[in-house]
Amino acid sequence: MAVASRQEHTRDQVPLTRLDNADPQLFASLMSAVELVATAGAFTEGDELEAFETEFADYCGTTHAIGVSSGTEALALTLRALNIGHGDEVIVPTNSFIATAEAVTLAGAELRLIDVDPATNTITADTVASHLTSRTRCVIPVHLYGRTADLDPLLELTRTSGLHLVEDACQAHGAIYRGRRVGSIGTAGCFSFYPAKNLGGWGDGGAIVTNDSALAEHVRLLRAHGEHPRYYHRLRGTTARLDALQAAVLRIKLRHLDTWNQRRRSIAELLSEHLEHSPFTLPQLASDDQDHVFHQYVILSDQRDALRDHLKRHGVASGVHYPVPIHLSDAYASLGLATGDLPVAENHANRCCSLPISPFHTDSDITQVAQVMHEFDAAGASSGG
Ligand SMILES: *Cc1c(COP(=O)(O)O)cnc(C)c1O
Repeated sequence: MAVASRQEHTRDQVPLTRLDNADPQLFASLMSAVELVATAGAFTEGDELEAFETEFADYCGTTHAIGVSSGTEALALTLRALNIGHGDEVIVPTNSFIATAEAVTLAGAELRLIDVDPATNTITADTVASHLTSRTRCVIPVHLYGRTADLDPLLELTRTSGLHLVEDACQAHGAIYRGRRVGSIGTAGCFSFYPAKNLGGWGDGGAIVTNDSALAEHVRLLRAHGEHPRYYHRLRGTTARLDALQAAVLRIKLRHLDTWNQRRRSIAELLSEHLEHSPFTLPQLASDDQDHVFHQYVILSDQRDALRDHLKRHGVASGVHYPVPIHLSDAYASLGLATGDLPVAENHANRCCSLPISPFHTDSDITQVAQVMHEFDAAGASSGG
């Protein structure tokens, strides 16, 4: 019975990610948490938010966590709370989701986009050093796809230069760098709880974690109109709280995060095992000194677009993260950077392809992905000449 149904499903659709509705038991517990909040009518601030903040800070190993409305706001409010703005420069990898750059713009600071290290797709002390100027105030490494950036040399550089290091951990919840959770290592760490992230809510959300009490207090004021106590506004802030409904969902899901990340690592190992003798460049797997929680499993191919067509025809979804590096996007045309200026990221953008991965994908999903990938390999080899 099980075997027959598995065979029937051999050519089912394999989506890029599967969300909570793939696990009926989890889904039911999330629904009842949402019902409790709605019944109590406590939608903003309150117990759920405070409890989540305590639990997330404990999980990350920091003294503070502040829930905010998105990962973008987490980054932007952190910069504002550090008094980084007009006239200041912030270094950001061009190979990221555009939000990392937007946060700098939102804070009123100047964006300095730089290229990444080809082996890791992250910025390193070496790639950053030559871009420091007298106006640089902050460096934002991105743990891209869930792979930890090499923070110790970066911290050494930022400390000796008197700069802040703010981690963009929006793709790497729970990843561990040399014994510490990402987010807890720099001045502050910023997270997104967009539904498809490793820890995702049922809508938008984000958080800042830090051991700096003054910074935490400042962010808390900024996210709610600088208000303390009620209707007494100490500074100009905004509306950027994490909703109680999201906090309730996230509290339940946080308990599963380590198990889910482990499943993502296993799926990555399985994919890499299957694809070992293929022509694709495979991502580095997690190891003791370089964790990877595989928000995305990204391969490189010179025939990326043909590969994606082939995958699609055989029911396998794929993604491109990201097709246009930030410095070549219309949004940042005013920076005046052109094709060829940041070649590592550009080359990556032209060749990268994200394959299906999530804690809820099954081994047979992954076998199907690998089979379809191999069929492309065979077709390419026979017609390629
Ligand atoms: C998702 C993401 C963000 C922004 O998070 P939102 O919650 O969508 O605002 C920032 N940086 C990176 C690297 C991301 O992947």
